[in-house]
Amino acid sequence: PAATPLLAVCNVSVTFGGIVALNGVSFDMHQGQILGLIGPNGAGKTTLFNCLSRLYQPSAGDILMEGASILRRPPHRIAEIGIGRTFQNVALFSNLSVLDNVRIGAHARTQSDIISDSLRLPGVRRGEAALNARVDEILGYLELGDVAHNVVSGLPFGTQKRVELARALATEPKILLLDEPAGGLNHEEVYALGDLIRRIRNDRKITVLLVEHHMGLVMSIADHVVALNFGRKLADGTPAAVQSDPDVIKAYLGSK
Ligand code: ATP
Repeated sequence: PAATPLLAVCNVSVTFGGIVALNGVSFDMHQGQILGLIGPNGAGKTTLFNCLSRLYQPSAGDILMEGASILRRPPHRIAEIGIGRTFQNVALFSNLSVLDNVRIGAHARTQSDIISDSLRLPGVRRGEAALNARVDEILGYLELGDVAHNVVSGLPFGTQKRVELARALATEPKILLLDEPAGGLNHEEVYALGDLIRRIRNDRKITVLLVEHHMGLVMSIADHVVALNFGRKLADGTPAAVQSDPDVIKAYLGSK
């Protein structure tokens, strides 16, 4: 029997007034996969992403994480079940340091550990020490150690994006949702980003959902691609299969 998918999107529909933004979309994600979600403008990618991060409530269907519905979880508690995300436009606390931004991500995961630790052992903050160690490890991993004490707003855009990734990693996600991470990056930065996403999957065994317009990036790093158009799933398969799918080609040509 096939293993329970890490994440199952089951017949998800979303309507805004009269607009059907998603129409019965289903697909599975398996542990360790990099899944690319593509589609022309207005296809429903952001809407689906927002359902996965619990900002939108589907009007029909379900989303299962390891077999259990996530739909009753409020958005601020999805980190606890292992869903981490980044934003299309960097959404960091720009007046805080890199270190503080990443600590905030780590807190989203371990706040309850710290409270229970300090209740059990007054004065001994074991949870806090573990959190510091985790933050240090992530800053090192993403080569942000040298700018740890810099204020985020003064850093180059590409570095800010890496800080966002660090903050998401600090929540220790099982699934990392990346919302157009290549947006605003130059050619070399996109190449480095692709490398980094692949490393994160390989080293840290994190499953990645990548919503992205940059076809070169998606096709070079995704194991599996889901293509949407007008809120419906058009195709689902390997990058090569989806890229040569006549319906996908037609949807992209028709959208220009
Ligand atoms: P893009 O690549 O341009 O970001 P997308 O694939 O992410 O597009 P969505 O933003 O999910 O597409 O939009 C899907 C449809 O839902 C569009 O018709 C859009 O106008 C509509 N839509 C999305 N969000 C809302 C909203 N909050 N209220 C009303 N309509 C919305």
